[in-house]
Amino acid sequence: MQKKLLMIPGPCDVEEDVLQNMGKQVVCHYGHDWVKIYNDTRNLIKKLLNTSGEVFIVNGSGHLAVETMLLALAEEKDELAVVDNGFFAHRMIEILKTYNLSPKVLEIEWGKNICPEQVEKFLNTSRGIKTLAIVHSETSTGVLTPIKDIGGITRRKGVLLAVDAVSSAGIVPIDMDGWGVDMCATASQKGLGAPPGLAILAAGKEAMEYVRRRKKPVPGWYANLQVWDRFNTEQAGFQPYSITMAVNQIFALQKSLQNILDEGIRERYERHILLADMMRCGIEACGISIFSRQQLLTPVITVAEFPEDIDSGRFVDYLDKNFSILIANGLGPLRGRTVRIGHMGKNAAKRNIVPILIGLENFLKTNGKAVNRGIALDIFMK
Ligand SMILES: *Cc1c(COP(=O)(O)O)cnc(C)c1O
Repeated sequence: MQKKLLMIPGPCDVEEDVLQNMGKQVVCHYGHDWVKIYNDTRNLIKKLLNTSGEVFIVNGSGHLAVETMLLALAEEKDELAVVDNGFFAHRMIEILKTYNLSPKVLEIEWGKNICPEQVEKFLNTSRGIKTLAIVHSETSTGVLTPIKDIGGITRRKGVLLAVDAVSSAGIVPIDMDGWGVDMCATASQKGLGAPPGLAILAAGKEAMEYVRRRKKPVPGWYANLQVWDRFNTEQAGFQPYSITMAVNQIFALQKSLQNILDEGIRERYERHILLADMMRCGIEACGISIFSRQQLLTPVITVAEFPEDIDSGRFVDYLDKNFSILIANGLGPLRGRTVRIGHMGKNAAKRNIVPILIGLENFLKTNGKAVNRGIALDIFMK
């Protein structure tokens, strides 16, 4: 299989030292020496997300972390509310429905910002909400949610805040304790710069208290935070879970987290903002618009919207065939209209943005659009 540059919104290419660490011989997934490595990895996550609570890492993908988070906090129907502003936000509703736990929903048009005032009004007018679930970086639209402001509101109202940070963690700074984020779900393969395979869930003290105190047991076993919590306590020093841990994935994640903290989360965030801006300015110079440009945008992906006479999927194919670069088609109703270009971690670099912009220029020209030669790269000439 030919190796292609992964500019999709995860998984992403990973650093060489991460791969090397992952390539170590397999070790036993329990015992004192192993638990030291596992706990060190968890401590790095705590540092990154600024939480004094618990961190759980389990074999799985982001969906497992999100499902576990929702099930832990939705004891009764209608006690949990979801802000539905895109594909991954909507997925949370779908997950809850399969357990007959239909949430209350605050619907926001795709591509529009979630205003804290709207959230406050929603919480004021709907009764009985104990938890609000929200996506930090909506990977379908490119919109970033102002979690800090929303955390201020939920904290004042005594509502728990559960955040899907699958594409933001590791790139956009997150201050769980400071912002009042009670749970945060993420995965190894996006902003965290490791290969796919691990689901990560961080939970603050109040969230853990809720999970331990709730009357109805959480359904199921694997996506059950009460089960994870029990083994984490009962088998703390030996095997703080009851599955076969993906040890090599943990090796990779540990290394990647060290790299991220070495770079500095602020510095890393700013690097991504700068490169996202170059990507967006280059695309706009070619006459293609950025989806929801006026909103607060996430630095992890760029969502570009093609004119109606061009199927965006054709640009995805074009970059693949001519440059061996993979980007992604739009999600849901945005399929065929938009492309999603991931620029995360190792791949958030000028060397990867330049060929995509050159490709875009060529693609548009072959599709009869007037584009001035070199205009997409003008941003690099200053
Ligand atoms: C990718 C993503 C998910 C799903 O994660 P998987 O690892 O693919 O299961 C959920 N939410 C957001 C915001 C994502 O970007």
